[in-house]
Amino acid sequence: MPSRPPSLIKPKPRKAWAHSKPSPRLRGRAGVADRRSILSDEPLCRTCVKAGRVTAATVVDHIVPLSEGGSDDRSNKQPLCTPCHDAKSKAERAAAQTRGVGRKSRA
Ligand SMILES: [Zn+2]
Repeated sequence: MPSRPPSLIKPKPRKAWAHSKPSPRLRGRAGVADRRSILSDEPLCRTCVKAGRVTAATVVDHIVPLSEGGSDDRSNKQPLCTPCHDAKSKAERAAAQTRGVGRKSRA
């Protein structure tokens, strides 16, 4: 019996909650504990401290974004306040768009 052409072979079904590829990011309880530990070790926004301001850090940022191959290690994470994190994220998105990184190809 002839086998089906590749376009007609259905991909294996996966559970709705299963990711197609595992994320390097710590999720769930481990992620919460990790963020809490980083913010308690370094409670001030790193960018604000460099600029001579004292601002409480509220988010943990990936210095090199995961989307650009950054690791999820402690060494690649820094505490930031929300305005600094938003500014950094905005700059990263703009840089990624000019390079065409992070866009999903629909070819
Ligand atoms: Zn800040």
